Amino acid sequence: MSVLKIITIPDSRLKNKSLDVDKYDKELKQKIKDLYDTLYFSENGIGLAAPQVGIFERIVVIDLKEDSKSKPLTLINPKIINKSNEKFINQEGCLSIPGYYADVERSMEIEYEWFDEDGYKQTGIAQGLLSICIQHEVDHLNGVLFIDYLSGLKKKMALDKVLKFNKKNKTSKNDD
Ligand code: ZN
Repeated sequence: MSVLKIITIPDSRLKNKSLDVDKYDKELKQKIKDLYDTLYFSENGIGLAAPQVGIFERIVVIDLKEDSKSKPLTLINPKIINKSNEKFINQEGCLSIPGYYADVERSMEIEYEWFDEDGYKQTGIAQGLLSICIQHEVDHLNGVLFIDYLSGLKKKMALDKVLKFNKKNKTSKNDD
């Protein structure tokens, strides 16, 4: 089991654009496993994109942990091909912005395509929480964070929260 260190703001690497995966090999499977280990180790994460742990490849793992059943979804090179005009507003959080939550407007429904971990192309339609989560994670692959949709003042509040959060965790847990 490898729990990787999650990068938090203001680390500028979160603004990197990640590259397409082109090899569906053992190494990719190991990375996916490490991403799940890291996601499940986090208290409340429902999705994690590879760049959040410093791997700048288009890999996303999602587990909405709904109904106490675990239904993991691995997305390689995901692409949103259609977004509904109908929008809705939900409170979002992010493992790279610990301790901060804010309302973000997203499309209610998306049509998307991706490759599974064996390299087979898949397509699907997502609504509700899954739709938000995919939009949020695909943003990460493009170097976009949910706070980028907020005002400068709210962005600053997010940064203050994270700095406080990280400081507190450092003194109490005594890890790096
Ligand atoms: Zn995030």
